[in-house]
Amino acid sequence: MDKSMKACKLQLRIPIKQARLVPGLLLLNCFLLMWSPPLQAQSKPDLSEIEAIHALSDRDNTTALRQLQDYKEKIGASADPALRAEVLKTLIGILYDAGKIKEADAANTELLQLAKSRNDPELISMAQIGEAFQLLDQGKFALALVKLNEVQSSLRDSKNAEALMRLNIGFGAVQLAIGNFDKSLPYYLEALRLADQIPRRRAQAKMYRMESIARLYQSMHNPEKALEATDEALVLTARIDAPKVTASLQMTRGLALMDLARYDDAIDAYKKVLQIADDAGMPAMAATALSNISDYYLKVHKYSEAEQAARAALEKAKVINDPYGIAMGKANIGFALAGQKKFAQGIEYINEAKKFFMETGSKSDVESLLSEIGSMYEAADMYKEALIIVREQQKLSDELFRSDRARAVATLQEQFNAQQRQKQIELLARENQLKDAEIKNQQLQQVILILAALVTVMIGVVIFFLYQRVRKTNEQLREVNQQLEFHAVRDPLTGLYNRRSFVELMKNRAVLPGGERREDVLENPDSLILMDLDHFKNINDGYGHAAGDAVLMEVARRLRKTVRDSDMVLRWGGEEFLIYSPRTNPAQLKNLVDRVLRGIGEEPIKVEGAEIHATLTAGFISLPFSGVPELMCNWEKALQIADMALYLGKVNGRNRAYGVSRLLIPYEEALPVLDHDLSAAIKAGMVELAEVHGPVKAAEEPVTLSDAQGDLVSEMK
Ligand code: GH3
Ligand code: MG
Ligand code: MG
Repeated sequence: MDKSMKACKLQLRIPIKQARLVPGLLLLNCFLLMWSPPLQAQSKPDLSEIEAIHALSDRDNTTALRQLQDYKEKIGASADPALRAEVLKTLIGILYDAGKIKEADAANTELLQLAKSRNDPELISMAQIGEAFQLLDQGKFALALVKLNEVQSSLRDSKNAEALMRLNIGFGAVQLAIGNFDKSLPYYLEALRLADQIPRRRAQAKMYRMESIARLYQSMHNPEKALEATDEALVLTARIDAPKVTASLQMTRGLALMDLARYDDAIDAYKKVLQIADDAGMPAMAATALSNISDYYLKVHKYSEAEQAARAALEKAKVINDPYGIAMGKANIGFALAGQKKFAQGIEYINEAKKFFMETGSKSDVESLLSEIGSMYEAADMYKEALIIVREQQKLSDELFRSDRARAVATLQEQFNAQQRQKQIELLARENQLKDAEIKNQQLQQVILILAALVTVMIGVVIFFLYQRVRKTNEQLREVNQQLEFHAVRDPLTGLYNRRSFVELMKNRAVLPGGERREDVLENPDSLILMDLDHFKNINDGYGHAAGDAVLMEVARRLRKTVRDSDMVLRWGGEEFLIYSPRTNPAQLKNLVDRVLRGIGEEPIKVEGAEIHATLTAGFISLPFSGVPELMCNWEKALQIADMALYLGKVNGRNRAYGVSRLLIPYEEALPVLDHDLSAAIKAGMVELAEVHGPVKAAEEPVTLSDAQGDLVSEMK
């Protein structure tokens, strides 16, 4: 008979025709029964009753279950959480052994809720490992592994030996289930080491760990090692009253013995298991024991006994509603019937079992089954049928090999993918956050730019308007200033320079240092011609003040016309004018004075239809005067002398001009007289006098200088 032992579902599922242990849940049961959480050490509640029930469950699972359920009801939901946790944990193990899988799962869920409400990470981890076993039991190896990995990271810094032991059992079971025997063993050995550190039920825990290791050897086709392990553990069980763990060990021992062809020893072991399972109230284990007994009978060709055992196994599996056990029972019945030459009937049972294994995807079971069918046909000399089966088996075996590899890869891949996905999600979330921040930043920058642009434009506009206003104001100011300046230096009526402007000009006059004489200055001195209109009062009186003004304006115009551009014409006051002619050759001066007299007197001035005849009298002098330094005879003194000459002209008949052309004696001597009395100076022969006559009107005789001097003399007398 074929003895391949592929792992499927939980590693505890021993393939067809191999003697089997109870379905997968046994392992879970094993450590759940062992499990005493850290809570117990810390918490106050009295756990003695639970411990007693736990110990009872080693011998009598049914009674223990009933007592524990009663106890749970008695303490109620409001009991101390530590106590409730302890009750639940014990209950889970007992329920599994009783074949009450759904109730056990529900208790695990209740435990998880309790752990979460207490926020106890280690208790949460333990309940999650329970969930991993549920997944494993459903063939969801990858998910189970993912869950265990999660638990592992939350237990990273934990020193809790029980939680860590439980985690290692989980990992070992998953690796075994996916056929990684070599990876499974280190986990189981670590779990065995940790079993020595747990606070309670250490001996039981170690038994179960050794049983796991033995079963792993059995899976690895090493029945010698498996037997060694079980025998070693069974010596230890003799010291503790724990039939349940003994049954588990005997079951595995039976499998190893069968592989070693020690059939009689094997059936003894199975019968012990059946006895204990029935006594202790563990129907799943009893069903497996019966199935394995049936295997034995098939092996030794006792087909009716085999059928009987298989039917008993089927019944028990139906009671606890274990589909796997049911399929196993049917397969064995089929083979037993075939052995009794009832092929048609047998094949019907076998095909039902085959269908179940195909549906659940348990190829290893199908393969084992096919192997058995092949052997069956062979035994019946039905070689043609056997050959077909062998081929089918071969094909499946190849597929199985591939799918085992694929499954292992897929498991790892899924785990890896889950981590990658999580990482990707985190990275994406972070990237999105960054992008959001960037977009917000950009928007803010745009807003700032727009605001800055607006502010700039507004400032620009304000500056522009301010600039316009300032410019306008400046223009107005300049105009006003120009007007002010004009009025400051000009006479408003005639537009000529006024007296003040001439005084200012003379202030800035570069007066040569004392005594120093420059030839060009002496050759071409400046000239001053002071003028006064003759009998102007008469014009005012005769034609009116406005006409007088008009005459003043016309006189001004004519004077300006007469002189050079570089000469300066001023209104000295009332009807008095002054010509300041810089750099004039004294020889030319008389000509200028002559032009002035004629410019005024030759042509009458027309005012509102009337012709007004105007003349003027002038006195003229050079500056410097007759080579005398200006420090001694400045412009004011020179003008004073010119004024005296003018007066002389008035006295001598008007419409004429007198100029003091030069000194005939040293200035120092002449000055005291000339200072205040020109006439006296003339009489004393101190100065030379120049005379210019104005234009002669018809019927008017010019008056000569000699006459004038005569007049003057007579007047002075
Ligand atoms: P003369 O100088 O020949 O001796 O006689 P005059 O009539 O010109 O004598 P005087 O200097 O005494 O008189 C000057 C007059 O000029 C007196 C004054 O009313 C007049 N006058 C002075 N300023 C102005 C002016 O701006 N406009 C007008 N219309 N008359 C003025
Ligand atoms: Mg006058
Ligand atoms: Mg006058």
